[in-house]
Amino acid sequence: MNGSEKNGENCLLYESILNCEGAPAEKVKRALQIISSVFSHAVEGIVVTDPEGTIKLVNPAFTVITGYEPEEAVGENPRILKSDRQPAEFYRKFWESLKTEGKWEGEIWNRRKNGEVYPEWLSCTAVYDENGNVTDYISVFNDLSEVRFKDAQIEMQSNYDQLTGLSSRSVFYGRVRDELSRLKQTGGRLAILVLDINRFKIINDSLGHPAGDAVLQEVGKRLAGHLGSREKISRIGGDDFHILLSDVKTVEEVASRAEKLIHILDEPVNAGGNRLFLSASLGAAIFPEDGNKAETLLKKADLAMHKAKEYGISSLRFYTEELSDMVSSRLTLENSLRRGLENKEFSLVYQPKFSLAKRRVEGFEALLRWKTPERLVSPWEFIPVAEEIGLILPLGEWVFLEVCRQIAAWRDEGFLPGEVAVNLSAKQLHHSDLLPMIRKALDEYSVDASLVGVEITESGLMENIAGSVEILSGLKELGMKVYVDDFGTGYSSLNYLKRLPIDVLKIDKSFIDGVYADRSDAAITRAIIGLGKALGMEIIAEGVESAEQLDFLLINGCDGIQGYLLSPPVSPSETLTFRKNEISRFFLNLLQRREYATERGAASE
Ligand code: C2E
Ligand code: MG
Ligand code: MG
Repeated sequence: MNGSEKNGENCLLYESILNCEGAPAEKVKRALQIISSVFSHAVEGIVVTDPEGTIKLVNPAFTVITGYEPEEAVGENPRILKSDRQPAEFYRKFWESLKTEGKWEGEIWNRRKNGEVYPEWLSCTAVYDENGNVTDYISVFNDLSEVRFKDAQIEMQSNYDQLTGLSSRSVFYGRVRDELSRLKQTGGRLAILVLDINRFKIINDSLGHPAGDAVLQEVGKRLAGHLGSREKISRIGGDDFHILLSDVKTVEEVASRAEKLIHILDEPVNAGGNRLFLSASLGAAIFPEDGNKAETLLKKADLAMHKAKEYGISSLRFYTEELSDMVSSRLTLENSLRRGLENKEFSLVYQPKFSLAKRRVEGFEALLRWKTPERLVSPWEFIPVAEEIGLILPLGEWVFLEVCRQIAAWRDEGFLPGEVAVNLSAKQLHHSDLLPMIRKALDEYSVDASLVGVEITESGLMENIAGSVEILSGLKELGMKVYVDDFGTGYSSLNYLKRLPIDVLKIDKSFIDGVYADRSDAAITRAIIGLGKALGMEIIAEGVESAEQLDFLLINGCDGIQGYLLSPPVSPSETLTFRKNEISRFFLNLLQRREYATERGAASE
């Protein structure tokens, strides 16, 4: 065997065989067969183009990857694969490299025939003839989408909990640390909560692990739905969820958000064909109060959660004892408010309003009372909580229905009450259902709208002026009287006040308290009376308790009064004397004394 024969036998590469002088035709043929087989069986896509870029040849892997059959691709330009993911600058560099260096290699996004965009690793090489002119370009490419998918899966496995899709412990810790360092710069609070599903073990033991898994997935989904973009939630093994609340302003805010998280379990969870009623225990630790390291805060939140477990169903504990006590009494109040509405623990009392000009009771204000099995709770305490948790809406609806029912009963008794005003909180006023709700209550008892009024606080009105104008106009159209309650305590813009269809201003009790002892209270009260009259509104003084206050109001031309001097709020049956306009001798004497003094004053002038 001579040297050239040996050489020819081993030169299986296309290029080598071409250069292998004297290689027998048979061997050349065999080599070409092998190369052709490599071309056909390669998993890489291969494209050969002429120097102008027109496709001359593609291999089967090209068709598998791109979706184009050879007859669709040959004669076309590789532009058919263009994805528009690369800018023009990219292609300029691509061609520059091919022309100057004869090759280009890198990642590129192309588009399959079905429109799908995919990443590929592309090697493009120029082939030259003996004179150095390009005869072909050969491109070999790998589809990277599968690899990418696997990478993403691996990332997903290390960053996310397989069962719930929530962040992994390391991602969660990372976010807590990031947020802590941010808040140390900017100031602010952060809370770490640990939530544990009560009696979860029983679900697993009695209904099996698939049911337990379904519960965890559903709880994770509901919790995640309550978080903002900077916040994170993670399942740290078993049924413990760790939650990061960021940028919280006050401890109360943490409590109210944590409570919402507890209430995500109010709705039963479907698991393995069972509807399960669940509850959770929540522990909370707050930065900076309870520590400034992620590990410390998590440990304390966990301890607090174990304390919460001792308290039983759906409870929340803070790591710090005082915070816990403060929040738990509020939570108790919230829970008993919900229960109170179901158990009909609410009632209404009525405080008469007296017109000084007409010397008669013109109507009443309905005031809500809540008697729990343990105590009488003041509206000052429960109304703000009811507003915050949204319970004011069903509660307010109950008040309207009850007032209408009461007016109808009094009408049947033969002594109508004048008009009864109902207090509305800002939340009720700006709720889209207000007018339909009122209409429904009036219709249900066939009560004329002129017999019912609404009292809205000044701050409630100013919260959303445009909305207030629209709603008050709707109330006026119905024929109801509109009062501004606690006037003087908010920040009314006179300009807006003029635009609002208001009938009566009620001067807040805090000014009436001081009309005799405090010059500025007296001045403010006079000013409000003057302002109201100038705007064509009626003026009522709230909380009138003494004869001196009554004197002051009579002298200064106030239209009406309300207060303990005439009567405290009374039960429905006790309103009868007022409905009959039977005013106490004591009160009438006070009025007469003032009239007598005025007459004497006029006579001596
Ligand atoms: P408000 O509407 O300004 O009601 C006047 C409050 O002052 C009532 O307290 C009334 O009992 C009390 N008051 C009346 N005259 C005197 C007086 O001469 N001296 C003293 N010291 N107090 C007097 P109440 O009933 O505790 O209500 C407190 C607040 O709770 C009300 O203030 C009102 O803002 C709110 N509220 C009461 N009932 C309802 C309701 O049904 N719905 C809504 N949204 N809020 C209500
Ligand atoms: Mg009121
Ligand atoms: Mg008031």
